[in-house]
Amino acid sequence: MTVEFKGHRFESKKAVKYLGVTIDPRLHFKEHAELAAKRASDTCRHLTQILPNLRGPRQRTRKVLATVVTFRLLYGAPFWFPSITAEAMHKMEAVYRRVMLRGASCYRTVSHDAVAVVSGMPPLALLAEERQKTHEGILKSVAREQLTSRWQTVWDNSNKGRWTYRLIRELAPWLKRQHGEVSFHLSQVLTGHDCFGEYLHRFGKTENDSCALCRATPDGVEHAIFECNAFHHWRVEACVYLDVDQLMPENLINTMLRSKSDWQRVSSLIGRIMVTREWEERTRQQAPGGVREIVVNEPHLPYQRLLCQFNSNEPYQEYKMNIVTFGQKSPPFIAI
Ligand SMILES: [Zn+2]
Repeated sequence: MTVEFKGHRFESKKAVKYLGVTIDPRLHFKEHAELAAKRASDTCRHLTQILPNLRGPRQRTRKVLATVVTFRLLYGAPFWFPSITAEAMHKMEAVYRRVMLRGASCYRTVSHDAVAVVSGMPPLALLAEERQKTHEGILKSVAREQLTSRWQTVWDNSNKGRWTYRLIRELAPWLKRQHGEVSFHLSQVLTGHDCFGEYLHRFGKTENDSCALCRATPDGVEHAIFECNAFHHWRVEACVYLDVDQLMPENLINTMLRSKSDWQRVSSLIGRIMVTREWEERTRQQAPGGVREIVVNEPHLPYQRLLCQFNSNEPYQEYKMNIVTFGQKSPPFIAI
């Protein structure tokens, strides 16, 4: 509708913009969410170009860059929350999810609930509510405690990311930790999404779900990290250093949270296992006509050894091989 008054033309609009917030007559904030999501999406696209999952910045840097997108999405939150509709909120959450995935170097298939926990980035709706509370005068520390409590309830009652839940049950110690960054390999273990036979078989990438290294089935993340015979010696060595009887899903995170050195020791163990599995998977894919593997007999075990140094600060370690795998590329270790 157009109205003319004293020579001026006034056109009616579906929404008006005031102090950066787009307001619609019903206060559903659909237009505002669309605009905020589009702007944040543009920023997100630029950021993802400098945040590859592998060999990109560390998690702390990733989270700082992610706050740029979060700030854009939450602009004016005290005004539009909680009136905003679920549909409008979902538009912004879709962009936020992309930042969370990059923040924790996670695969796109990881559930929303799990990636939020692994990245340590609270759900967007809870952040908006926190902004509203602090705007009303509640202390930021109090508002953050309330957010963590609400998030814990959501996490306890979710049916998504249950493997991650088994590892990280209590959010508060995980979120308040003073050390420990989530690397690409650690994120794969925390979410259970990677070159695990069970996962690859589910997506039709392998014929069966057995472990290519020890033939056990199913080959899930629990088998790879906590059970696989191929990495028994590495686990025993790590347990001695960590002074624990056994590493299990139920004590992994608590062990890592004890100290910076314990975090690094577990992270290093996970890195070794994952790198070895990746190499084995690549070899299997590249080998024409199938995998080239030889099971080493007991008398020959002393003659098939590896020298490994996955961290430049650690000395070289010597390991015996149970299975020898041949491929077209060199493995990430020096064999003697
Ligand atoms: Zn195995």
